[in-house]
Amino acid sequence: MSILPPNQQSNQSRQILKQPKRLKSPKHLAKVASLGCILCGSPSQVHHIRTGQGMGLKASDFDTIPLCERHHTGKEGIHTCGSRVWQMRFGTEIELLEKTRELLDADSRETKIGHLPKK
Ligand SMILES: [Zn+2]
Ligand SMILES: [Zn+2]
Repeated sequence: MSILPPNQQSNQSRQILKQPKRLKSPKHLAKVASLGCILCGSPSQVHHIRTGQGMGLKASDFDTIPLCERHHTGKEGIHTCGSRVWQMRFGTEIELLEKTRELLDADSRETKIGHLPKK
């Protein structure tokens, strides 16, 4: 007499639980940092945004914004004020990320041929 193994289903769920890889790109980080603070243009550090994390998502190096020391870890920094207060004052991480991507896009446009500028 054969009995079905009771753990047949747990094998399937184990596959779904695969850890998503955190996207790493030192090159992209260097580009973001070189933009200067997204708020004031000062020499910047790279901040990994936290919005959208949880739900198994990990911050990737492509979800980063440039912030100067003051706006990052300093007196008016996102890590000092807490992201909720900070975002009410300076804008949401998502908005700033979009702005960062636009800047990076504009930056790479200069080297691309045949790419028409947006109006
Ligand atoms: Zn700044
Ligand atoms: Zn940070």
